[in-house]
Amino acid sequence: MTAAPTGPLPPGATIGILGGGQLGRMTALAAARLGYRCHVFSPSPGEPGTLVAATSTIAPYEDAAALDRFAEAVDVVTFEFENVPAATVERLAARRPCRPGIRALSTCQDRLVEKAFLERAGVPVGPWAAIHSAADLPAALARVGLPAVLKTTRLGYDGRGQAIVRTAEEAEAALARLSPHPLIAEAFIPFVAEISAVAARGADGTTVTYDAVENRHAHHILDLSFAPARLPEGAAEAARRHAAAVAGALDLVGVLAVEFFLLPDGSLLGNEVAPRPHNSGHWTIDACQASQFDQHARAVAGLPLAPTERHADAVMRNLVGPEGMALWPALAAAPGVSLHLYGKAEARPGRKMGHATRLFARGTLSSSPESILLSHL
Ligand code: AMP
Repeated sequence: MTAAPTGPLPPGATIGILGGGQLGRMTALAAARLGYRCHVFSPSPGEPGTLVAATSTIAPYEDAAALDRFAEAVDVVTFEFENVPAATVERLAARRPCRPGIRALSTCQDRLVEKAFLERAGVPVGPWAAIHSAADLPAALARVGLPAVLKTTRLGYDGRGQAIVRTAEEAEAALARLSPHPLIAEAFIPFVAEISAVAARGADGTTVTYDAVENRHAHHILDLSFAPARLPEGAAEAARRHAAAVAGALDLVGVLAVEFFLLPDGSLLGNEVAPRPHNSGHWTIDACQASQFDQHARAVAGLPLAPTERHADAVMRNLVGPEGMALWPALAAAPGVSLHLYGKAEARPGRKMGHATRLFARGTLSSSPESILLSHL
């Protein structure tokens, strides 16, 4: 077991990143600015993170020898993708500090564990019930009511592995389609908006949060984030407070995002936690002195965290699939727009290819019609 570094990692040290996606890519870019090298571990070549990292290892997450060589080559390990197998992180954690650690990873890999954890952390959640077999369905529906949302407990994202059901018959059909995986049944929440808040927690426990943002989805994939969310003051503060509480309860070192549903009465219900930088925090690259990726690199390296103040209002649009990529020449020329492309070779439908952020003077979001906010995006 390697002891956790006592002070910050010195410039030139190497941060190992599990996962080759755009979140690791943007973390590696931020880490490079702080003088660190990044070594990306990715199961497939040519991924966004490997294209900007100093070094990469291309191997399956189950390749013990490759993991041991990776551990030898890095000073600290993080992940950009929470579905890295727990056994992979456990093996690495025996050799190098892993930030965040196995607790954050395993809590957020399973929706049942995550919901129970959110409740313990003091975050209100909607009614939910576990479905381990078909026999559990009637009691689960009795508990959460109809309509309900059935979700696989593991490996679901961007709407995959879920179904909205309005009747008991629809629930049975969805169960048949989603089984044999264990499921969570959730009450369908009639939310007025979806919001999220990003928190960063340093190795010394210091925690900072960014302004909460409002998120809009298209085809179950994040489409737009509005920063700051146009929310009652109390709800905006509650989102930040909950995100900080979750980071503390997970003993997180790094960055996380908590997603919430905003109810008509202005209260919030927690939906899910991502124990890593999050798509709804990309606006921080352009609108804040230190982005969520800067904070993640700082936390993982044991550096002090940076201020989270927002110097501008921002609207972020995801560029998804071929339609999203078709916009890049116009976005590259648009006034006030920052374009971020992830270097993915093929624009398959539903694939996040990049994002664009437009900045506005502070206060613009709450006082301008959306036609203005979305122009040039
Ligand atoms: P998730 O994978 O849990 O983030 O769910 C994806 C999307 O499905 C969310 O962003 C919501 O738009 C919708 N959704 C998920 N759970 C619920 C729920 N319990 N009630 C209403 N809509 C939901």
